[in-house]
Amino acid sequence: MSMAVSDFVLAVEGLTVSFDGFKAVNDLSFYVDENEIRVIIGPNGAGKTTVLDLICGRTRATAGSIKFRGRELTRLKEHQIVHAGVGRKFQNPSIYEDLSVCENLEISFPRGRRVFGALFFKRDARVMEKIEEIAELIFLKDELDKQAGLLSHGQKQWLEIGMLLIQDPELLMLDEPVAGMSVAERKQTAALLNKITQGRSVIVIEHDMQFVADIARRVTVLHQGKVLSEGSMDRVQNDPKVKEVYLGH
Ligand code: ADP
Ligand code: MG
Repeated sequence: MSMAVSDFVLAVEGLTVSFDGFKAVNDLSFYVDENEIRVIIGPNGAGKTTVLDLICGRTRATAGSIKFRGRELTRLKEHQIVHAGVGRKFQNPSIYEDLSVCENLEISFPRGRRVFGALFFKRDARVMEKIEEIAELIFLKDELDKQAGLLSHGQKQWLEIGMLLIQDPELLMLDEPVAGMSVAERKQTAALLNKITQGRSVIVIEHDMQFVADIARRVTVLHQGKVLSEGSMDRVQNDPKVKEVYLGH
């Protein structure tokens, strides 16, 4: 009766992490399909960020399994997980403020990543083509020569998404990507995320319900480290258990 692991890009089963006896993630199971955007919502402290920390290897699981394309991630190191095709964006954008938008994308390009000095050599046409393609996608085509530190907060968030996209991850995880963005920037980000699921899966943690409605097909509601509810936006919003948890806060 068990499903083939290859049916899912990501299969999380019985995942648990205990911090001094406190289970921030408690016997959690969920599955992400190919080309899916999964949104994880839940009150503060529900364990959302910790789940991403566990998937990307930043935090070690106490128990359970995380299978990415059938491969167990809980035993791998952070860089091995990146290499396996998992990209993760943290809540605060981490870009190189002193470098241009173009240079930020260039050093994130897998081939150029190893040699920082490569920046000073003539850019390979193939790399430049990829940079331009990504810059267009993240709405920064006209800002390629701009110093990244001078971008707006929203543009910095997009740049960091671009720095992940240029590595072509099969699973991209974003922690509150529209925090601090204007309404217009949120709409643009939703359009961006809807575009980048071609050939990859995305996990997004987000609070903004309009944004969630703009991107989500399936929503997982986390509460006390467990799945409280899962399904369409409509279904979870009308779930009495979900209403109770949100009203209780
Ligand atoms: P969310 O992202 O849903 O707001 P978090 O995953 O950041 O929640 O945190 C879940 C719970 O785990 C919180 O109570 C938090 O204080 C706790 N927690 C997270 N990371 C650690 C850690 N490294 N050590 C101890 N407690 C932690
Ligand atoms: Mg969080």
